[in-house]
Amino acid sequence: MNVQTAKKLKGSVYENVLRQFDRAADLIKLDDGVRKILRTTKNEIIVHFPVRMDDGRVEVFTGYRVQHNDILGPFKGGLRFHPAVDIDEVRSLATWMTWKSAIVNIPFGGAKGGIQMDPSKYSIKEIERITRRFTFALGFNIGPEYDIPAPDVNTNPQIMAWILDTYLSTVAPGDRQRSTHVVTGKPLESGGSIGRDKATGQGVVFCIEEWAKEKNFDLSKATYIVQGFGNVGSWTAKLLKRLGAKLLAVEDVTGIIHDPKGIDPEVLAEFVAEKKGIRGFPGAKEIDHDTFLQTEADIFIPAALENQITAETAPKLKVKLVAEGANGPTDTDGDAVLQEKKIDVIPDVLCNSGGVIVSYFEWLQNKRSEFWELEEVDYKLRKKITTAYQKVADVRNTLKTDPRTAALMVGLLNLDKSYKLRGIYP
Ligand code: GLU
Repeated sequence: MNVQTAKKLKGSVYENVLRQFDRAADLIKLDDGVRKILRTTKNEIIVHFPVRMDDGRVEVFTGYRVQHNDILGPFKGGLRFHPAVDIDEVRSLATWMTWKSAIVNIPFGGAKGGIQMDPSKYSIKEIERITRRFTFALGFNIGPEYDIPAPDVNTNPQIMAWILDTYLSTVAPGDRQRSTHVVTGKPLESGGSIGRDKATGQGVVFCIEEWAKEKNFDLSKATYIVQGFGNVGSWTAKLLKRLGAKLLAVEDVTGIIHDPKGIDPEVLAEFVAEKKGIRGFPGAKEIDHDTFLQTEADIFIPAALENQITAETAPKLKVKLVAEGANGPTDTDGDAVLQEKKIDVIPDVLCNSGGVIVSYFEWLQNKRSEFWELEEVDYKLRKKITTAYQKVADVRNTLKTDPRTAALMVGLLNLDKSYKLRGIYP
């Protein structure tokens, strides 16, 4: 079964987003007009563009950019290259970006984009041409003060550098140097920010540390399992290791590995860089998906794709905390099971916001022609994300609501205030 058929069977992710939204909107008695606006995306751009392959053939690709909302600032969000990319997914991801920036209080709106493709099937030269032609097709639908892409699943700093270079080639020569903030997550040498690479994982770990404080839990004795070993999964694992926690099992697209003695995430990351997946990691045992889900551990970090924790899979989990590195890993049925089982959740829109927070720092540095030190980036990231964590915890405790709804309430109140002050034109 191909990825798109499998997805259709699972149902719409966007419907899940709307269910999450309505729950929080009901609780804050969100104004009807604002509710209508936020339930809808603002712009949806779909482009079909041709690219010449290494063997001379031409292939036509489909790319997306959905801009959900920009009341709090320019549209912002990543670009993913994956066979599962479609309008329903990009809409959902764009909407989550709006909530995310509103919750952590950074002046951005929400957007997301991507290309429906399997990048492992293309050469690096082909990926470069696909990226450049996609950027060209998007044209002035992106811009440094308008809509700012960033890395996401299967995209990285090199791809951001190609987007930067292509975009700058299309603006007037005199405007180029002041347009480098058209994309974030760039390599350091092309105007990137120190600390952006690990930022999402770092944010996940700062959130887990807050949770541990709240629960009086000793992280140096913690065990954890990770789904997805890309940028977010691998950085989260490496940073948790520094706190003394032990990685018991990892799942990615190539396989699932388990080692009760602990897997060293640094060594695994080196292995993955070479072999392009975790399969065959020496010393670890191969296990199946169900056994992975049933691994007894303190923390589960989903850091892959949407809809992984559902009515079917959530009952299998034997953890105390789900820290969502991925976007949308839990659907509303899965959430209900987690609550029943008293498994804590740090919801995606808070937990993985470290990436966009440091993207904001990169954007600011570019605008001011500055380069900050790592200590400054880490300090400011910790401050932003722990402030948001506390706000969400306050709402959760005061209203005795679930953490996802509490997080959305914090974000929605922020957006609602802005709409009330600005009103609707004309
Ligand atoms: N793709 C990341 C996310 O889902 C980062 C977005 C950004 O930095 O703009 O949050």
